[in-house]
Amino acid sequence: MSEQPRVEIYTKDDCPYCDKAKDLFDAKGVEYETYNVTGDDDLFDEMVERADGRQTAPEVFIDDELIGGWDDTTALDETGELDKKLGLDTEAAVEHHKLIIAGSGIAGLTAAIYAARSNNDPLVLEGGEPGGQLTLTTDVENYPGFPEGLSGPDLINRMKEQAERFGTEIENGVIESVDDSKRPYRVELTNGDVYTADAFIAASGASARTLGIPGEDDLMGYGVSTCATCDGAFFRGEEMLVVGGGDAAMEEANFLTKFAEKVYLAHRREEFRAEDYWIDRIHEKVEAGEIEILKNTELTEVVGSAEEGVDYASLVRHPEGHPTDKLDDPETEEFEMDVGAVFLAIGHTPNTEYLEGTGVEMDDAGYLKTEGGKGGSQTATGVPGIFGAGDVVDFHYQQAVTAAGMGCKAALDADDYLEATEIDSEEPATEAAAGDD
Ligand SMILES: Cc1cc2nc3c(=O)[nH]c(=O)nc-3n(C[C@H](O)[C@H](O)[C@H](O)COP(=O)(O)OP(=O)(O)OC[C@H]3O[C@@H](n4cnc5c(N)ncnc54)[C@H](O)[C@@H]3O)c2cc1C
Repeated sequence: MSEQPRVEIYTKDDCPYCDKAKDLFDAKGVEYETYNVTGDDDLFDEMVERADGRQTAPEVFIDDELIGGWDDTTALDETGELDKKLGLDTEAAVEHHKLIIAGSGIAGLTAAIYAARSNNDPLVLEGGEPGGQLTLTTDVENYPGFPEGLSGPDLINRMKEQAERFGTEIENGVIESVDDSKRPYRVELTNGDVYTADAFIAASGASARTLGIPGEDDLMGYGVSTCATCDGAFFRGEEMLVVGGGDAAMEEANFLTKFAEKVYLAHRREEFRAEDYWIDRIHEKVEAGEIEILKNTELTEVVGSAEEGVDYASLVRHPEGHPTDKLDDPETEEFEMDVGAVFLAIGHTPNTEYLEGTGVEMDDAGYLKTEGGKGGSQTATGVPGIFGAGDVVDFHYQQAVTAAGMGCKAALDADDYLEATEIDSEEPATEAAAGDD
């Protein structure tokens, strides 16, 4: 038996990515030590020093080697390198399931509950963000059935438990490609594992978008973040900038007032896209002096260093909005803000790359096209046996309850498909038997 290397994880309170890192090692049956840096300045300094100046948790070490944060750890897992470092058996498995579901967000888990109860032997492949976007939020107050609200991770854990109770198998793994040229479909993971499936539900959601501006990549994890709930507490007492105009931006700005000296909310247009509920809450915080809204304003650069974090942010403003399209206009004003952290909340890109070689149709942004309309098969794509559900299809509603509803529909559509194909594949055999008589 190979000796397991020493795994250490620096964590902090209220850190969904720390929980995900622990879940990843738990799923691999690997033991680890955790050090919670919340409220312990010495431990925090130790983490920053060992992590080459990075100020974000989790930070993972294997036998004293810095693996990095959640993104670095999953990137290593996707290539199979993590298992090698952990001394785990990395032999590729070829396993067949009636139904494979891509994603363990709310759409994928709802599909799994229904599919397991229909005896369709579902395997859920979790992807790089186990539990999906809801694991990044502290308060879900609009999911029916929970009058007091509940946390996103709590809701997801309950759904996982419910799916597993009916026999769903849930595995870590990111799908690299789906081969729809023959049946059963061949599903290949980035770590080399291969599965086959009679039917497939794409519930792979969407990922946070970034701006592509100077400084953004270099400072990601050093003061630039796409997750306020994960990183906000690290910048306690600083002024913070949130970029965006939808619900997520409002929620992040509102959450950050817990820690920030002041939160600035920059939106490129005059009108917000967010629900009135969120706009009202933000205006309450504006009146209290905790948030300042910067309308018709865009972020153009984040300046700082890995050692010192964010120094300042450069922005532009034009009275008619979309200022980066009007840089030569004399009315466009350029200015800098001395903020300690920048949070991007500017929407999402659908996770559909792994379906690119298939016959599944997508729109220009990469969202899956499904049949829609009334009656059955609403979640069917153009490829028989491949269905789409949740934010990977729905660029408009993008809510937990709508994703859950689509997950349910996809499982019922897949069940109809599997029953029909079972009947089809039985029919020729019956005919042949009759012909033999
Ligand atoms: C900060 C924040 C707060 C929110 N708050 C609320 C709220 O209060 N109420 C509400 O109704 N909605 C809220 N939402 C929106 C809600 O979270 C989404 O609408 C919902 O999570 C969509 O679910 P989904 O299952 O379609 O996708 P996601 O939650 O995005 O899950 C996608 C899943 O697919 C997996 N995946 C991706 N690529 C692959 C691959 N190649 N192979 C395998 N798996 C893959 C991912 O790892 C993930 O598990 C919030 C969103 C955010 C970001």
